[in-house]
Amino acid sequence: MSKVLLKSCHTEQACQAWHASLSPHTSKICIAVRLTFCIYKDAIIHTILYMPELPEVESVRLQLLAKVRGKKICTVKILHPKSVAHRGDFATQLTGKKIEHIDRIGKLMIFSFEKENDLYLLCHLRMTGQFFYVQNEHISGGGHSLTASASKDLPNKHTCVAFSFADHSFLYFNDMRLFGYIKIASAEEVLDARSKFGDEPIRDNFNFSSFLAQLLRRSTSIKAALLDQTLVAGLGNIYVDEALFKAKVRPDRKASSLTKKEATAIIKAGRDIMLHSITVGGTTFQHFVDTGGENGNYTDYLKVFGKQNTLCPRCKKAQIQKIRVAGRGTHFCPQCQK
Ligand SMILES: [Zn+2]
Repeated sequence: MSKVLLKSCHTEQACQAWHASLSPHTSKICIAVRLTFCIYKDAIIHTILYMPELPEVESVRLQLLAKVRGKKICTVKILHPKSVAHRGDFATQLTGKKIEHIDRIGKLMIFSFEKENDLYLLCHLRMTGQFFYVQNEHISGGGHSLTASASKDLPNKHTCVAFSFADHSFLYFNDMRLFGYIKIASAEEVLDARSKFGDEPIRDNFNFSSFLAQLLRRSTSIKAALLDQTLVAGLGNIYVDEALFKAKVRPDRKASSLTKKEATAIIKAGRDIMLHSITVGGTTFQHFVDTGGENGNYTDYLKVFGKQNTLCPRCKKAQIQKIRVAGRGTHFCPQCQK
C-alpha cells in the first residue's frame, strides 16, 4: 500500500515535516491518532496527517482544468449532502452548465461556467479532499494522499459528489473525513472570499510596492507577517521557512527591521520556491492505472523544514535549529541567516 502513497508522506522524515507544520493543538490530536491507530501505521497515519499546501492545490487545479474545461455537465449526484452545504438545488443549478474555467485564491478553487456570471463552485479540499477524473476507464486523481483503494469502484463510499459529462467522462469529488466542500456561490460570495486574501507572489500582477510598504510597518516577526494571508497569500509554514532560508533572513527578525533589499529577496525566494513546487507537484494529478501511483513532491527539495539538528546545507558551519515563532515550529540556520 505504501507504494501508492504520495511521496511527500511515505517517509518518516516527510511525515515529521508535516507534523511540524501543524498547530500545537492539531499536532496533539495527530499524536493521539497515531497512538490509537499505530497498528495500521503506514497506511492510515500518513493518510490522516497529510495536508496539501498551496502549490499542490495549484497543481491539482491546473491539471483538473486541462481535463474538464469546456465540458458540459449532464448529471450531478450528491452522495454526501454535507459536502455541498446541504443545498437541495445543487444538482439542478449545475446540470447542463459548461465549465469555463477553474480559478484559485489561496487553497480555494473557483469553478466558473459559460454564460453564467452569478454562478460559481467553490471547492476546498481541506485535509482529505480528492478529485478523480475518469475517461475511457483511465483514472487520474489529485489532492489528498492517494491510495490504490481510493480510486476503486468509483463512485465509492468516500465519493461526495459525482458529475457526468456529455462526452461520457466523469468527475468525482471524494472526501474521506468530510472536512472539504464543493459548494455553489454567487458572484458576491466569490468577491467576499477573494477579499480575505492578499496578493500571491506567484501571480504576475503581484503588487510589490504595496506589499513592501505594509510589511515594513509591521511590528511582528517577519515569519508572522508572511503567514498572514491578508498581507501575502499562499506562503504556508513550510514555504516561509524555506523562503527565509534562501533569502538569508532570520524568521524571528522584526518585519520593520528589514531593508528593502532583504524584503525583495524574501518575496523573490518565496515566489521561486512555490513555482518550483508547483512544477514538481505536477505529477500529483496522474494516471494511477498506468503508473501505480508514484508521485513526485517538493518535500524532496526542502533545505531547512524538518531538518533540525542536521548540518546547514549552505554554510556547513552550523546545525539547523528549530524554535517557535508566531506559534509555529520554525527552522533556520543560526550561522547564515541574519
Ligand atoms: Zn547556514
